[in-house]
Amino acid sequence: MKVLKFGGTSMGSAIAIKKVKHIVESCHTPVVAVVSAVGGVTDKLVKASELAKANLDYSKLITEIETLHGQIINDLFDGKGQAKLSASMSDIWKELHQVLKGVSLTNELSTRSYDTIVGCGERWSSLILSHLLESGDLYDSRLFIKTELNGQGHQVKLNETMQAIGELKFSLKERTVFPGFIASNDAGDNTTLGRGGSDYSAALLAAGLDADALEIWTDVDGFMSADPRVIKRAYCIEHLSYAEAMELSHFGAKVIYPPTIIPALQKQIPIRVKNTFNTAAPGTLIDNQKDEQQSVKGLSSIRDVSLLTLQGNGMIGISGISMRMFTALAKQDINIVLISQASSESSISVVLASADVELARLALIKEFDKEISRQQINGVSVEKEMAVVAIVGEGMKHTSGVSGKLFNDVGRNGINIYAIAQGASELNISFVIHENDLRKTLNVVHEAFFLSQYQAIHLYQVGVGTVGKNLLEKIERQSERLMKTEHLSIRLAGLANSSQMIFNDRGLELESAIDVLKASSPATIDQFVEQIIANNHSNSVFVDCTASGLVAEKYQRLLENNISVVTANKIAGSSAYERYDKLKTTARKKGVKYLFETNVGAGLPIINTINSMVKSGDRILQLEAVLSGTLNYIVNNVSADKPLSEVVIEAKEKGYSEPDPRIDLGGTDVLRKLLILARESDYALEEQHVEITPFVPKDFFTDESVSDFIEHLKGYDAQFEQIRSEAEKNGKVIRYAASLKEGRAKVGFIEVDASHPFYNLADSNNKVILRSDYYYDHPMEIKGYGAGADVTAAGVFADIIKVVNL
Ligand code: ADP
Ligand code: ASP
Ligand code: MG
Repeated sequence: MKVLKFGGTSMGSAIAIKKVKHIVESCHTPVVAVVSAVGGVTDKLVKASELAKANLDYSKLITEIETLHGQIINDLFDGKGQAKLSASMSDIWKELHQVLKGVSLTNELSTRSYDTIVGCGERWSSLILSHLLESGDLYDSRLFIKTELNGQGHQVKLNETMQAIGELKFSLKERTVFPGFIASNDAGDNTTLGRGGSDYSAALLAAGLDADALEIWTDVDGFMSADPRVIKRAYCIEHLSYAEAMELSHFGAKVIYPPTIIPALQKQIPIRVKNTFNTAAPGTLIDNQKDEQQSVKGLSSIRDVSLLTLQGNGMIGISGISMRMFTALAKQDINIVLISQASSESSISVVLASADVELARLALIKEFDKEISRQQINGVSVEKEMAVVAIVGEGMKHTSGVSGKLFNDVGRNGINIYAIAQGASELNISFVIHENDLRKTLNVVHEAFFLSQYQAIHLYQVGVGTVGKNLLEKIERQSERLMKTEHLSIRLAGLANSSQMIFNDRGLELESAIDVLKASSPATIDQFVEQIIANNHSNSVFVDCTASGLVAEKYQRLLENNISVVTANKIAGSSAYERYDKLKTTARKKGVKYLFETNVGAGLPIINTINSMVKSGDRILQLEAVLSGTLNYIVNNVSADKPLSEVVIEAKEKGYSEPDPRIDLGGTDVLRKLLILARESDYALEEQHVEITPFVPKDFFTDESVSDFIEHLKGYDAQFEQIRSEAEKNGKVIRYAASLKEGRAKVGFIEVDASHPFYNLADSNNKVILRSDYYYDHPMEIKGYGAGADVTAAGVFADIIKVVNL
């Protein structure tokens, strides 16, 4: 014999109820069907009881419930069937109206009235199903499931209940229907088993009848690795032990009402969680087996809780404090969700429902009144709006490093943990966080342990110029490959330019993002950054594809909020050393990344190489470099027939130069790059330490607009050509180079002959020559294409991927 329980959604419409009928009638063994109320009805009944108590109009709600049932009955039965059913239904309607009227007249809602009102849903739904089934007998659960009151509410009297159900065993026919949720007490009053309690009714029936199996039919494929409403990538768990299922449901996995497991466990009845709407899915099997290959099986959480802490140095080493604390709470019938005590014994923290916390606080203040006045106990502190997250799995017992991994990932994402508890059984590790961090935490932990197929990066990009646009195209082109080979899903969660922004948690459409952005309303970079912080997503990366100082100013705040920064913008790295250093330190402290490989040599791995050398203990002793793709392009392309000003325009059009070419021609761009390379090489270099000769004399930088500047530059064409041709006559070429040697940093022109490594540096190539302890006589050289949107975007992309592939 099997007991099948159908939840509210499964009983939620005529179509769903027909599926239930099919499932029940397809069983080859005798079946007991236990049903919830039609979906949403219990909520409405609860609401109606509250309105009645407040003497407000509840009739609209009752009409809604009547219409809903009327519609279902109409769709399921012909005229004769409807008539037969209506008589029994209307008895319950009458009773409901009477009780509600009584409540509203007296303004008093007794437990008995409340339970009578909210229990009507199951009485209607069980009537409907029993009429619809081919030979379905209806039994009234209230006659068999008996409860008594304890501090927490109605509690099932197990012996009596088991006996009453057991007596039914041999008289049940092929198909019987029981309403879930409802019960009665010794006085014969209506009671209920608590919200979600139909699961428990089914388990009690299964145990009392010694059923071979208990099936919980619901609206998801089974017990999932996490709440599917929060974690989109949660998957169905094939198998759980009773203990695992109990822990997960106690910690908030709504799919099974927690007490349900106990009767099944006692009688060793396997439980299967199945989907009424996808019968082909195998569902989740819960039984006595333990599988130890997978250490963590599931993840669940509880919200609306508070953390209450009793603290004081006078508690150390004194016995009886915790006993008094828990006794005081128990006297008030306060349920404790989690307990944590540090081994120094100077504080004990408990987590409890926020609704109970004030009562608990007062009870403790009263209990420890003397100790508080003697200052042995500092008092009772309360942190509200907390949540508890638990990871559960019997396999954790035999695996080390689970909590290390857990807290590492949680910490890296800037989530603060207030308290931790792990049972000695190692079945469950729970920790307390602020409720605002709950969604993020669940995502981070789910990704860490359940290897949800993909790790998601939430990307926030500012700048949609040549580099920004190119980057979006690259991400779009590569996203499928990244999913396949790297299991990485990049979501563009936000996009901004200097005056607008758009967001989408699930990821903006890459192809149309720029157009959508340009059509959006005005916003500032401050608003963009604050929204990113408020979003609080896991693996958030801020990408700066601008050359704006205003944007660079935001890095510090972002890093402080555990958001990695990837930037093609050189301003932050090359302004005051102190600022650069603070950014690097913050990133390190927060465990996030601050990456700017493209600041020097675009996509060339220059900074990365220096980092590796320095990390391995090598010292960079000298550095010589051609660092401007634009300027190298210019010196290579100016000729007797092609003047400087013309080549500058060409370089700008090819996207080599900075948006304002004066940054290149004044030498500032090279200066910034030298500062960054020197700093990465462990020299605290400042701008004023660098001797700089601009590429074009200073007098040309007085114009307002770029176009005026280029126009005036024509006046320098002849002079530049003279410098160039003079060098050429001597078998040399000019290069605009940067160097750091023997404590002197320089940026300016050099003339080199054919023997020099910079002589053959074609087009817009860059070259860096590094002399270190290990590479002195034969220095390290890095050379290649060093400018342009394409290679810069590629470098930024590589940095983004580095953020997660640590
Ligand atoms: P029923 O009405 O069938 O009893 P419930 O709403 O009580 O259904 O429980 C099923 C719901 O529980 C699912 O629709 C899902 O949204 C939610 N849920 C929360 N956590 C989990 C989990 N770990 N696995 C499956 N479902 C879960
Ligand atoms: N109908 C009740 C509720 O919504 C019981 C149940 O569905 O399990 O809480
Ligand atoms: Mg339920």
